[in-house]
Parts: sequence; C-alpha cells; structure tokens
Amino acid sequence: MIAHALTIAGSDSGGGAGIQADLKTFSALGAYGMSVLTALTAQNTTGVSAVHPVPPEFVTAQIDAVFSDIRVDAVKLGMLATAPIIEAVAAGLARYEPAHVVLDTVMIAKGGHPLLASDAVSAIRERLLPLSSLITPNLPEAAALLECDVATTEDEMRNQGHALIAGGARAVLMKGGHLGGAESPDWLITAQSETRFANPRIATRNTHGTGCTLSAALAALRPQHDNWEDTVATARAWLQAALKAADQLDVGHGIGPVHH
Ligand code: PLP
Repeated sequence: MIAHALTIAGSDSGGGAGIQADLKTFSALGAYGMSVLTALTAQNTTGVSAVHPVPPEFVTAQIDAVFSDIRVDAVKLGMLATAPIIEAVAAGLARYEPAHVVLDTVMIAKGGHPLLASDAVSAIRERLLPLSSLITPNLPEAAALLECDVATTEDEMRNQGHALIAGGARAVLMKGGHLGGAESPDWLITAQSETRFANPRIATRNTHGTGCTLSAALAALRPQHDNWEDTVATARAWLQAALKAADQLDVGHGIGPVHH
C-alpha cells in the first residue's frame, strides 16, 4: 500500500525548504503527500523577508479536515512559528494519535531569520517531545532545547541525545553537520541504543532545505521500513544523492536548494 505522509509546516515561496521541500520529497520517495500550513514565508535563496503565521484555529481546521477523511501513516512537523500554533498541533496529534511523528525542531533559517518565536522553545519541549516518535535537532537546536552549550564533540552530541531522551523524547537523531569536520556524523539515540551514521561531507553551496528534506524523507520512509535505524540509513542515503545532484540546479542568487 502507498504510504500517506502529512507535513505540518511553513511555506517557502522559493520552493527549496518548508512544505514545498516536504511534498517534493514525499513524491520522490513514493509516498502520497498532504500538508497543513502553519505559516507563510516570503522567501528566496537569499533569505526570509517576511513571515505570516496562520491563525491557530485555522491550523486546527486543516488538521481536522485531513484526519477526518484520509488515512495518515506518518506526520512530519516543521516550522511551527508560535506557541499557540504548537498548542493547536499538539492537541490535534493527541486527538488523532498518528503512528509515526517526526519532529524537526526548526528554530532559525540559515540566513538568521527566526522561524520560531523565542518564547516557543519551551512549548516544543513540553508539548511536542512526548507526542513525537523521533526528533531531529541540529546541534544549536539541541542546545536550545536543553538550555546548555552547543556540542563541539561527538561525545557531547551523544550525551545531549541521551539528555533529550531523559527529557521525554522517544528517539533522537542528533545531526552533527555543525561539527564541521570532513564527515557529517549523525547519532540516532534511543533509551536502548546508539547508532552512528556518517558520510564524507559533500561540497556544494546548495544546502537550503537540507533539514526539512531529511525529516520529510524520514516520515515518508518510516511506514515503508520496520524501525528507525533502517529508515535513517535509507533517508540519509537519499539525501546524499540529493546533495550530490544539487549543483545541477541553478536556482536563485543565494544558497540554492538540494535537488529533490
Ligand atoms: N523556511 C521554512 C518554511 C522552513 O521550514 C525552513 C526549515 O526548516 C527554512 C526556511 C530554513 O531552511 P534553511 O535553514 O535550510 O535555509
């Protein structure tokens, strides 16, 4: 059966990140894609110029419309913008209990524009961590969730992954791209296991939407695999190919997107 994947996230008018990246990824990985919009961004490859959050009650209306009619096998959570939107999303997830929820803890765009209100980090931690099957923080996002310094070694990454499990997450994919070495190591941490994934870093400036694309791939693929280890391995391999193909694109004048 074809997997049904839902993204609850923001729109990127430039098409490289957000729901546009998610829906392209769902299609590329054989899933049927659906979207609940949380915010519009006016955005291109050079940055975000404006953000227009969706009213929380309209987020709820979209969630109810989708779940009341359509089977949802996995959900990806991306840009959630504000604490009241997080509250609406948490209430929706608690109501419909989808089998797999991937939480991409989006906070700040690469260009520096905030995608999450500064008072909303605690809402992510308290309301969404317990409802998520897997969270995918990069190192600054993990540090923000834990209110600690950004990890600078793989040992610190692993320890922070375990601290997030102790704080209520069920599984954590700690993304080590910010360590900046020749490899880009990720650690998948659960209460019972630690798995390291690494590939040589791919030289491209077109990395816009990489995090969105990985979390969407995880949501599209989890219903097609038996566990997170296999899902992460397949999603990472596919993202590597998307990064290798990124230089075929000639999109915009800034940091271009990966090739979905
Ligand atoms: N815009 C939206 C709507 C997003 O959801 C995200 C990332 O999650 C971004 C922009 C940021 O993309 P990047 O940091 O890869 O430029």
